Amino acid sequence: MIDPIMLQHGKTKSAIRELFEYGLRQAAIVGKENVYDYSLGNPSVPPPPQIAETIRSLADSDALSLHGYTPARGDQAAREAVAADLSRRSGDNIRPENIFFTCGAAPAIISTLRALAVEGAETVLLAPYFSEYPVYAGTNGMKVVVVPADTTDFQLHADRVEQYLTPHTQAVIVNSPNNPSGVVYSREALSKLGALLTRKSKEYGHPIYIVADEPYRELTYDGEDAPYIPAIYPNTVICYSYSKSLSMPGERIGYVCVPDCAADSQELYAAIAGAARSLGHVCAPSMMQRIVAVSTALRPDIAAYDRNRMRLYMELSDMGYRCIKPRGAFYMLVEAPDGDSEGFSEKAKALNLLLVPADGFGCPGFVRLSTCVSYDMILRSLPAFRKLMEAYRK
Ligand code: PLP
Repeated sequence: MIDPIMLQHGKTKSAIRELFEYGLRQAAIVGKENVYDYSLGNPSVPPPPQIAETIRSLADSDALSLHGYTPARGDQAAREAVAADLSRRSGDNIRPENIFFTCGAAPAIISTLRALAVEGAETVLLAPYFSEYPVYAGTNGMKVVVVPADTTDFQLHADRVEQYLTPHTQAVIVNSPNNPSGVVYSREALSKLGALLTRKSKEYGHPIYIVADEPYRELTYDGEDAPYIPAIYPNTVICYSYSKSLSMPGERIGYVCVPDCAADSQELYAAIAGAARSLGHVCAPSMMQRIVAVSTALRPDIAAYDRNRMRLYMELSDMGYRCIKPRGAFYMLVEAPDGDSEGFSEKAKALNLLLVPADGFGCPGFVRLSTCVSYDMILRSLPAFRKLMEAYRK
């Protein structure tokens, strides 16, 4: 018999994919330049040129070793490079033994949650959250508990989290800079969450872990910086990906870092390795590990994302939309003028504007725009946004 839950996940497409595929069909009818697709979070800035240079030089190296299996947790030299880079930037002492390479952030999060999924375990999601989290957690032994968003500022407010913690809480996923809001959680907000989790861990007699999902860590604007969470709350596992920071989501490379300061860190690391093994997430792509090993100092050129963000934010705000100003990542939330995000997205679709209802991100009443698009498309789309607002003024 086929598992109905997996069947359901396999058959249903996310709202993002639905819209993206609609956009491709529509482009064939009205022309690509007349479709304004804000659906997918595919980087629009090319990878740093050094990546291509490294690929070229690796292609001439020993092919058997280049394309062979690495150890399950990853190549030693590559883990040393990542550990050294993380130590340099955080001031923490991260060792290669703390790093486990994965195929991007998704398996990093899944393996971490699976490692914590004891009988009855719960994972807390802070809305708005990445729409795949309920699938990652729900199909890996976790009950999903959602803390509703504070739609005034979309910040993390620890006092709103407390009522959602129970003796079964094992993990709280913290994603900052945030997809879909672009909000960067402040040091003060994270400290308050840390104090709450410390108190609750004591009360429940077991650690509650923060699973810090950080694919957008380097993508911040306006002088914002995403704080290093283990220095604020030690029981933190970092799930990182090079998908966005090096613009290579298709290459599937990232890592889990279990710092020494996390409670039972060695056992937790081993359990994550066990979960990765049971799920077949071992031996991340060998060539990508080698590329990462020599690319840790590279940073994306985020000037284009910054320009997109500011232009969209200012233009749409001037038109009368309520936009949440992003300080990181490459997404922006816009409030549906009448509170109906599905209706807003449908009306936009009729103008070939593809905006994703944020209901799947735990944030009804808003749509998400991916701002990793071409600047030219933004300019071309502005008349459609104006027309859309006029429809609400009638
Ligand atoms: N977490 C967040 C917040 C994301 O936005 C994404 C991808 O968009 C992922 C995780 C998955 O990242 P990866 O492609 O590295 O698996």
